[in-house]
Amino acid sequence: MADSLLTLNAGSSSIKVALFEAVDGGGALPVARWSGQADGLGAGLKARLRVRDAQGRTLLDGALGDARTSHQGALAALLDWHAKQADGDRITAVGHRIVHGGVNFVAPVRVDEAVLGELAALEPLAPLHQPHNLAGVRAAMKAFDGVPQVACFDTAFHAVEPEVNRRFALPRELHDAGVRRYGFHGLFYESIVSQFAQAAPELAQGRVIVAHLGNGASMCGIAQGRSVATTMSFSPLDGLTMGTRCGHIDAAVVLYLMRSRGMSADQVETLLFRESGLLGMSGVSSDMRELEASAAPAAAEAIEHFAEQVVQHMGSLAGALRGVDAIVFTGGIGENSVALRERVLADCEWLGANVDVAANRNGATRLTTAESPISAWVLKTDEEAVIARHTARVLHAATKN
Ligand code: AMP
Repeated sequence: MADSLLTLNAGSSSIKVALFEAVDGGGALPVARWSGQADGLGAGLKARLRVRDAQGRTLLDGALGDARTSHQGALAALLDWHAKQADGDRITAVGHRIVHGGVNFVAPVRVDEAVLGELAALEPLAPLHQPHNLAGVRAAMKAFDGVPQVACFDTAFHAVEPEVNRRFALPRELHDAGVRRYGFHGLFYESIVSQFAQAAPELAQGRVIVAHLGNGASMCGIAQGRSVATTMSFSPLDGLTMGTRCGHIDAAVVLYLMRSRGMSADQVETLLFRESGLLGMSGVSSDMRELEASAAPAAAEAIEHFAEQVVQHMGSLAGALRGVDAIVFTGGIGENSVALRERVLADCEWLGANVDVAANRNGATRLTTAESPISAWVLKTDEEAVIARHTARVLHAATKN
């Protein structure tokens, strides 16, 4: 009977579940035996469930029935599928991606009711994600009675940032009470740090800007594999323009909306988290593929805004790192949009990036010319593997104690 680990990653409109065997907690990232993804969850979207094996072959691909288009419904569908497939598999632990660890959780931790309560208290800081993450934990606790559940935090990678990059210029008492820059997407960045160490070991020891560009988007300046500064801050709303989130905005806009437009806090939250970004600017879609295919001038304007923010944050993070050795693109847009990468790199020539247009268009991993003073790369993020590794380490540490 094989001992296996399950990872569960519930995002704003998707859940990903992956099964890993015999993870020892060290060395290169482990490879999932199968990974399943339910997309398009939420009202009015076309929800689908796909499961692939380690070679990328499709094991299941189908629309989710109306009763299963919520996060919990999709998870139940995946667990049903797993129960039918997993002859003899013994799930020994479930590792979860949890967006917000707040001040207290700066390393992966085994979840119990007290931990769940503390994490639920952080829901207002990440309303698009944290409730779904925790629903995933509760569902897995029910489905796998008595099996250890391990929470892995997107904020934890950034806990080592210099104090100056962790603070807002607010009274100290607020910082001490938790109003501070946390940073997110940490599990994605850890995955890139591990993979970049394999692809380019010397560069990975240097100063690297990782552009994680997806529906949620952020960038991080990393030195010697450790986070120095990142674009998201108190919540996953800050920094870059995103699919439906506004990114950086003058806080006075919020005051204006509430005072002069009479909007409630809930209405402002919905506006900034769900109706802004690429969707709000274009009026067409939050999806980069659809914007790139659209002839609407507002769609082009939204793409331009997104790209410009990425370029400007390259400058900001280069400052935080006091120089750059390499740039890595990842995330759905970073991995797949040739046009976006070409546009960004062309505008980062001042930084020393000389784009190799043919390499970028032909699916190469290295995107810059051999003579380019700094190099740029594209790597596929694998946060599930990082969650599996963390989970194995937590279990290993528990059995040693
Ligand atoms: P993620 O949140 O990382 O899954 O990324 C989702 C985003 O990646 C969406 O905006 C997609 O439109 C975008 N994306 C995926 N594939 C492509 C592609 N081939 N070209 C442009 N954007 C893409």
